[in-house]
Amino acid sequence: MTAGSSPMVSAKDMAKKYGDFVALHPLNVEVHAGEFFGVFGPNGAGKSTFIKLLTGQLRPSKGRIEVLGVDAVADPQKVKANIGIVPESESPPSFLTPTEFLEFVARLRGVDDMKAKVEHWLEWFGLQEKRDTMCKDLSKGQRQKVMLASAFIHKPKLLFLDEPFANLDPIYQRKCREWLLDHVANGGTIFLCSHVLEMAERMCNRMAIINDGRVLAAGTVKGLKRSQDETLEDVFIRLVGRSIEDVERLSDEGLGDDSEE
Ligand code: ADP
Repeated sequence: MTAGSSPMVSAKDMAKKYGDFVALHPLNVEVHAGEFFGVFGPNGAGKSTFIKLLTGQLRPSKGRIEVLGVDAVADPQKVKANIGIVPESESPPSFLTPTEFLEFVARLRGVDDMKAKVEHWLEWFGLQEKRDTMCKDLSKGQRQKVMLASAFIHKPKLLFLDEPFANLDPIYQRKCREWLLDHVANGGTIFLCSHVLEMAERMCNRMAIINDGRVLAAGTVKGLKRSQDETLEDVFIRLVGRSIEDVERLSDEGLGDDSEE
């Protein structure tokens, strides 16, 4: 880890309300280069809201957000241009084929050797036979592969993933997991949201567990366990099962790099 370097992602006192409903209570987070950071929580915990705030897709109700040194509140377009995002349940445009969509993204991102790269990613995801099929006629899993290919094709140094493997079979889950780990080993940074705890165990350097818009705990996977015998599922149930009153104090402590590794 590179504590001390300027963070790739920094949010201070970031909060989000939808009308009167508080989806995310004020929190602090920093993610540094080369980290694989995961936010985990049950459905409705605030994970997608969290990622949308950091990627300039939503304006916070309060707080400061900087991504790659850019103010995400003042200049969300610049943030979006600099990062890779795979949003939850979003599909490539219905009336484009995988080839057309990937060529469009590659051109937009200034990818060298565009045709060869598009070919490479179609093959990598086993989509050669569907290369000229309109995306509306692909299966959910195939559409998700196209979205992942569009994020991988320009190897963004900072990648945000919201439930990235929801529709993938185990073979492609493993393939993507290995690609992401390799990307991080080569200096990339990843911010991931999911309710699948196995991902934290297999991929994340650091993680936060959230529920009802509050951070219940943050740290390394090892650091969050009380003992060697405790599984991450035990940790999750212990924390998420606690009353909100108990966790209010913890949620104010932020998500700084306080890991013990
Ligand atoms: P998660 O990704 O963890 O499932 P979300 O961030 O999508 O959770 O949602 C957190 C909470 O905010 C949920 O209670 C959800 O119903 C609510 N919410 C999300 N988007 C909106 C919206 N646009 N308007 C009102 N409430 C919303």
